[in-house]
Amino acid sequence: CIENVANRARLLRSGFTDALTGWHNRRYLKLRLTEELARVKQEGCNLVCMMLDVDYFKAVNDTWGHVAGDIVLKEVANRIESEVRATDVAARYGGEEFIVLLPNTASNDARHLAERIRLSVAASPIELPGGASTVVTASIGVAEVCPDSDLKDLKSTGDSLVARADVALYAAKSGGRDRVVVADAA
Ligand code: GH3
Ligand code: MG
Ligand code: MG
Repeated sequence: CIENVANRARLLRSGFTDALTGWHNRRYLKLRLTEELARVKQEGCNLVCMMLDVDYFKAVNDTWGHVAGDIVLKEVANRIESEVRATDVAARYGGEEFIVLLPNTASNDARHLAERIRLSVAASPIELPGGASTVVTASIGVAEVCPDSDLKDLKSTGDSLVARADVALYAAKSGGRDRVVVADAA
């Protein structure tokens, strides 16, 4: 019986975990996003969503191979993790995209954190097998939900928060990459 419970817990955890980085996955992020928005509604604090995408990552795979690409992704995740707080919610959102939710964080502090993460991703070469190494950069889009936002439908508020971070990320890409763009207040 105890073994059953342990197996169930393991299964549940694996359904919310990204196998490559050991981070939470997109499924977990969606659940937590709704919970964090409920907190915005109840407690009147804000919530920031930061979306990071590795620049020209396809070229890393093409040049060094997929195994090296995986190593780069893990190291980028480590570098992000070393900058965020324990109360922040970090997840691998897709291939080379990561999201960090920052509860109760002023927009200016979020911008500074995003800049710190951007600098730390590119700060030093990432070691690859066979003595090679490569430097990667990342673009980051930041968006925020305030207590006076529309919080009637938390799922759609969450979707639109992620979409606004994505638009800001796209602006960072088209502005030249290796930069942070903060979306205007909704
Ligand atoms: P941009 O600067 O515009 O973001 O360009 P990009 O090359 O980073 O973006 P693009 O979407 O063209 O390529 C992303 C690549 O990421 C393509 C895909 O094969 C690779 N990828 C996705 N998931 C993984 C993974 O788990 N491991 C490895 N090694 N590569 C992955
Ligand atoms: Mg991408
Ligand atoms: Mg990319």
